[in-house]
Amino acid sequence: MSLRLGIIGHPLTHTLSPFIHQAFLKQFGMPGSYEVLPCQKALDQIALASDQGFKGLNVTIPHKVTVALAIDKLTVQAKLVGAVNTICFGESHCDDDFVDTAGGDRSGAGKANWGQISGHNTDVIGLTRVFKTHEVQGQVVILGAGGAARAAIVALEQHGCPGVIVVARQYHKAQSMLQSLLVAGLPADFLANCSILSIEQLPLKLDLIARAGCFINASPIGQGLVELPFWLTPFLNSFERDALILDLVYAKGGRTALCQLAKGTGFRRVEDGRQMLVEQARQAFKIWTGLTAAYSVGFDALEKAQTAG
Ligand code: NAP
Repeated sequence: MSLRLGIIGHPLTHTLSPFIHQAFLKQFGMPGSYEVLPCQKALDQIALASDQGFKGLNVTIPHKVTVALAIDKLTVQAKLVGAVNTICFGESHCDDDFVDTAGGDRSGAGKANWGQISGHNTDVIGLTRVFKTHEVQGQVVILGAGGAARAAIVALEQHGCPGVIVVARQYHKAQSMLQSLLVAGLPADFLANCSILSIEQLPLKLDLIARAGCFINASPIGQGLVELPFWLTPFLNSFERDALILDLVYAKGGRTALCQLAKGTGFRRVEDGRQMLVEQARQAFKIWTGLTAAYSVGFDALEKAQTAG
């Protein structure tokens, strides 16, 4: 039987996920498709996909939170992050435990067998694998307080990180992010070691980040038309040169603006978001099929798509 997979979001013009998942299907000689399904109404599209016999969907901007609020059966990780990036119809091959969040908000959504749908967040496992590969140690500094920052904080707690400093342009947004992670169940003793710095505070507080083992850019700086901010150079200069600079933004050959700046500044360990992208896709594919795709297959497909694009 042919496996129907896809991605929902809006807009979806630049998604690279089809290339990765089609390569995974090919690796296992599995008949199937991975369809790009741009939509404004995520829940209607999920109901339609359920009717049409889809096995799984990826979920991306702007639907990750709406979908998490609508699904009754969420993994512990998806519940903690408060966002779903992978949906599975029917039986899933998932190592994480589920929490029953019955009472999902599906007002206006089309009919579907919602009890058979599970919601996952594979960004967390993707990031955990990146932290493991790079042996991330010590305190971590994260720029941003959106969905990717939340996933990073959950993954860092699971990785055994001692504490996080969140740098945000809006202090109150970072504060409510940490508060909502506490409410969602992230351990209070870990959150007690998480602090916030607003960008205005940075010039006087650079000594606080000097001993951090890793900086994660979980904001769109350096992506598309979003320029690197003026404060980034003194900020980067405060880190030890063996700290890992992890940009979640990705670009062909790993040449994001931040990665290039970091390399030019003398950092020895610099990584863009391609590894995370491929790892979260591998985990989604495993949830749908039970099969562990090769990292190199996904990464090569991504490189090829970026070269062609
Ligand atoms: P999001 O939910 O929109 O959050 C973005 C965060 O960045 C917000 O806290 C925002 O602050 C902050 N921000 C935006 N522009 C900024 C600027 N110029 N300077 C400082 N902070 C700024 O987005 P997200 O889903 O977390 O994604 C963040 C980045 O990670 C995106 O570039 C995305 O492509 C990347 N990402 C990569 C992967 C991967 O697999 N590699 C996965 C997920 C995300 P405000 O709240 O003040 O707007």
